[in-house]
Amino acid sequence: MIDLTDAHQAGGDQPISPARLNDRSTPRAVRMAQPLARDVVEEIAKQHGVCIRPVPLRRQDILTGQVEVIDVPCGATLESKCPPCAKRNRQLRRAVPGGLAPRPRTREPP
Ligand SMILES: [Zn+2]
Repeated sequence: MIDLTDAHQAGGDQPISPARLNDRSTPRAVRMAQPLARDVVEEIAKQHGVCIRPVPLRRQDILTGQVEVIDVPCGATLESKCPPCAKRNRQLRRAVPGGLAPRPRTREPP
């Protein structure tokens, strides 16, 4: 039988301190019930409207040759993939009639 007294003492769903997570006297079931760091970071990113699946791109400065990696938003349109990017794309589609497709070329007067 699993003893979950520590979870009840900590207030049930209340997170326990990080020091107690590494303490082997804390029951495994209590330690495993805590959210993973990646899940926490994703939830915070969703709350602030930041992409949760950024795409790393390598950019090289053609003058200095310096290379750096920058993260760009994934640009997903599906809510299941990346809710912040899907929301941003939905707002863009509403703001720009006809989406972001290039407009047909028209002749400019001389
Ligand atoms: Zn995204």
